[in-house]
Amino acid sequence: MKLILLGPPGAGKGTQASRLAEKHGIPQLSTGDMLRAAVRAGTPVGLQAKAVMEAGGLVSDQIVVGIIADRMSEPDAAKGFILDGFPRTVAQAQSLDEMLAGKGMKLHGIVELKVDENALLARIEKRAAETLAAGEVVRADDNPEAFKKRLDAYREQTAPVSAYYASKGTLRQVDGMASIDDVSKAIDQVLAR
Ligand code: AMP
Repeated sequence: MKLILLGPPGAGKGTQASRLAEKHGIPQLSTGDMLRAAVRAGTPVGLQAKAVMEAGGLVSDQIVVGIIADRMSEPDAAKGFILDGFPRTVAQAQSLDEMLAGKGMKLHGIVELKVDENALLARIEKRAAETLAAGEVVRADDNPEAFKKRLDAYREQTAPVSAYYASKGTLRQVDGMASIDDVSKAIDQVLAR
């Protein structure tokens, strides 16, 4: 299974991607996780990405397309993957199309989690509080100011990605405001169609 999960920050893409990855025995390819690992490791990519990420902006297409191309070439991605947080611009979606065509691969589905954007800030604040309570480090961009920028970036640059796939007739939408289990069930249902 090769799947893309779309939706605004805080929609639950990471949670659903990790469930799907476990269920199907395939990797979850999260560009956000890969970039955060690069920042922690202090690699050249991490050094370039750090400030943009903390401010809630988007890292350049060139960087993210590079890291996703490398990751998709690893053996465990050959049988499938769940893309979480990529593509985030139409240019990234076009690069992905080329990458997949070059490997003779086809996507099985593009699923968008539809959420009430007014509820997202509260979700992010809850995530930050739970992380803190668990004694873990809160993401540098899980604060109201950076979140507002992440939402702006989503509206301006990522919402057109949904339109891009919708125009190809490949977009499936599910209600992302339901419980985690119900969203998982809804994703299974649209994929079975
Ligand atoms: P996420 O964990 O998906 O919320 O991503 C965290 C941050 O990493 C984003 O706010 C961006 O700064 C950066 N990022 C992750 N994926 C991408 C992408 N596909 N294109 C550009 N920037 C990205």
